[in-house]
Amino acid sequence: MPNLDSALRAIDDNFDFSVRKLLELVAIPSISGEASGGPGIARAAEWLQAELSSVGLSAEIIETKGHPVVLAQSPQTSHFKRPRLLFYGHYDVQPTGDVNQWKHPPFEPRVIEENGVHRFYGRGASDSKSQLWTFIEALRAWKTAKGDFPADIVVMLEGEEESGSPSLPEFIDAHRNDLRCDVAFICDAEMWSPTQPAITTQLKGLVHERVTIFAPNPDLHSGHYGAVAANPIRILSDILAGIHDEAGRVNIDGFYDDVSEIPNRLRLRWRELERDTAHFEEVNLSGGVTEEGYSALEAMWGRPTVDINGITGGNQGPGERSVLPGSATARLSFRLVRGQEPDKVRAGFRAYVKSKLPKGCTVEFVGAGGSSAVVLSQDSPFLAAAARGLEQEWESPTILRGTGGAIPLVQQLSEVLGAECVVIGFILPGDAIHAPDERYDTRRLLKGIRSWVRIFEEIGNP
Ligand SMILES: [Zn+2]
Repeated sequence: MPNLDSALRAIDDNFDFSVRKLLELVAIPSISGEASGGPGIARAAEWLQAELSSVGLSAEIIETKGHPVVLAQSPQTSHFKRPRLLFYGHYDVQPTGDVNQWKHPPFEPRVIEENGVHRFYGRGASDSKSQLWTFIEALRAWKTAKGDFPADIVVMLEGEEESGSPSLPEFIDAHRNDLRCDVAFICDAEMWSPTQPAITTQLKGLVHERVTIFAPNPDLHSGHYGAVAANPIRILSDILAGIHDEAGRVNIDGFYDDVSEIPNRLRLRWRELERDTAHFEEVNLSGGVTEEGYSALEAMWGRPTVDINGITGGNQGPGERSVLPGSATARLSFRLVRGQEPDKVRAGFRAYVKSKLPKGCTVEFVGAGGSSAVVLSQDSPFLAAAARGLEQEWESPTILRGTGGAIPLVQQLSEVLGAECVVIGFILPGDAIHAPDERYDTRRLLKGIRSWVRIFEEIGNP
């Protein structure tokens, strides 16, 4: 395997440079969700365009209605029937939140040793600048070692993932010819553990909804009318409390109608994974309710859920105010599994609320669209090649995992481009993503880059 060995050597020889460059990227405050992030977004996009060009790809910054996409492609070759591989990553980051909660400044990363681990801290260090850097450096190493790319290559780097990707569907639609590919590697996911690689093959869908209940009157004096007039907070609380029964099941009519049961084979595999309890140590689950008849992983990855994300109404001020509020609002999110349609789930919820609404009160709903769940094919040759490549680098079997999260992009790519998607990543729950002191370590960076090169080799040797 002279190709593989020379590419791996190129990675190792070049690793100091790889780290130094990644720290440069993490230092750019490319926050997509705040107006002040604009200059950082522009700088990060230019920085990436330059790096992708230095690898030998033709890279351009393409403006959208929101933040730009950096799109790069390998030069047209005469190779007959080379597969075309797409790599997706995002270069925008979450806001820092209260900077005083960070022990390390969010945009001044440097490598420090902590108990033998070489870490660097910074917003975006893990989510997701290290991720996109793994495949860029792998492409660089392969090109250096071989003088060519392992296949036809497309790289798409998005700048508004942390803001819900509002411009991405239109972008994908408008650039479907550039984006056409045999497989899309979505590099924005977690490993199973620090030593065990994973490919995410099952993602939930997501629907957001806001509901406001209005009383027949505006705010009233609670002393005068509390005994007799409708209280929207009480009505809303009742409605929300009725969503789940004691077994943790959702009480909304028709909610489970289209839900596909978790296949037995999968249940067995997940139960096996659950023996590794380390996965749950990050969070204290006491007081939570898991749907009866399902294990924690089954509920997280394979069962639909409703979450109440926020409630507002009435007196929120510092002092007492004896008010009978005129309205109350809740925000909810629905996590869908295969079979469920966003519109149908939303309609079911609205019908449920209306059925509980007392006379004289009115309701207003805000929300549209949403994404469906995605279950990726488990027997594709690209997925198999990726699993083998990861396994060789980490010397540990690749876990095929699910997630409670959604990556709407996966649905768009598979529907619009007909592309197969493989969702891979090298981040961990302990990286404090979206939180203060987000971090990453150089070992995972190195092994992440090396993983891709092994995957390229495996794709070439089906
Ligand atoms: Zn994120």
